[in-house]
Amino acid sequence: MQHDTASTPLRQRPNASSRAPLSSAIPTRDPKAPISLYIHIPFCVHKCHYCDFYSIVDRQDRQEAFTHRAIAELTAVAALAHNPTLDTIFIGGGTPTLLAPHLLAQLLTTVESAFALTDHTEWTIESNPETLTQPIGEVLERSKVNRVSMGAQSFNPTHLKTLERHHDPASVERAVTIARAHHIPRLSLDLIYAVPGQTLPEWADDLERALAFNLDHLSAYALTYEPNTAMTARLLRGDFEEAPDELEVDMYNHTLDRIRRAGLDRYEVSNHAKPGLECRHNLAYWRNRDYLAVGPSASGHIAGTRYKNTPRLDDYLDFSDEGFAPIVEHEPPDPKRSLMDALMLGVRTREGLDAPSILTSADQLHRRAELESAAQSCAGSGWLTTTDTRWTLTEPGFHYADRVARELMGALVTDDETP
Ligand code: SF4
Repeated sequence: MQHDTASTPLRQRPNASSRAPLSSAIPTRDPKAPISLYIHIPFCVHKCHYCDFYSIVDRQDRQEAFTHRAIAELTAVAALAHNPTLDTIFIGGGTPTLLAPHLLAQLLTTVESAFALTDHTEWTIESNPETLTQPIGEVLERSKVNRVSMGAQSFNPTHLKTLERHHDPASVERAVTIARAHHIPRLSLDLIYAVPGQTLPEWADDLERALAFNLDHLSAYALTYEPNTAMTARLLRGDFEEAPDELEVDMYNHTLDRIRRAGLDRYEVSNHAKPGLECRHNLAYWRNRDYLAVGPSASGHIAGTRYKNTPRLDDYLDFSDEGFAPIVEHEPPDPKRSLMDALMLGVRTREGLDAPSILTSADQLHRRAELESAAQSCAGSGWLTTTDTRWTLTEPGFHYADRVARELMGALVTDDETP
């Protein structure tokens, strides 16, 4: 789902645009350099009320056409990139495991034949508990997929109902059992907290039930109210109230304490993993690395150029340009935007920002003094630790990651750009 909003900078810049095929929109790059691949599968069983990712309710009438198009796009993208070796692959959506097993098998086989994979390639597929069935497990076992990221969200039927998630909590255990029976070595669960009406003990119970699976990775997101979602409309209508800030902070602190006792550690504001089992694909986003994109609404980043495929399935199915999807947003390399992205994405991680590198970039933009001053201001507030080599969030600073990112990015804005 490219589910962490901070991982998809293009989502925040809908004004950049040009309709062009991929072949004319992205620069050539060194095929030996490591690269990642994201594939977006747009189908879901039902539209969850909090979700603003591109997905449509599946009526099983377009899966076949979509898969054929995605295979054509994969083949064309691989050829354009000179069949590179993939460091990481992430199949998100939507709900990729909703694809019919024979179609999913065709897609996975195409990835394996069009690109070079190694024993080290991390290959994640997102799933929902009710769609990780035995036949899907068999398809995954025959492929090189080695990681499942499952959207459990909650084990509490009341809160699942609030989120308009339709799965039975017991289906999480069934799905985990299937993944393990089919030898998928790595497993991550997604949970959501600060759901309206949720108490701290109820969140603690969700966490216990997730950690009971001996996870190597857990993503725990505070519920966010995205514009134009049903959840936000219900909030504005007064159907419920947002969780109080203090409760959200208590839930976050409890999460940290509990996951550390379970042998995991935070490596990004909302992501926790056992040592060495961090999601390398997400790290590639946060480190501003290169990634290719396939599927409707998928966004890619190649050698400083950012682009996004058409987000509508109908347009995607219509494409004919040498197999590439039409690109609806395209931003050529821009040193200021690149530094903005590095600040916004990197500051949220445990490793933080590489100080010499960002200061060199700021120097080239004649904004070094302003950036240093913003960093010192954040340090003075107790949110940022600054050394000659790294700038990292402090423990309290993790609660203000977005604010710190805004302050640092604001230092790059010149007077004539201020609205
Ligand atoms: S399953 Fe995921 S992508 Fe689909 S509607 Fe729900 S949150 Fe969105």
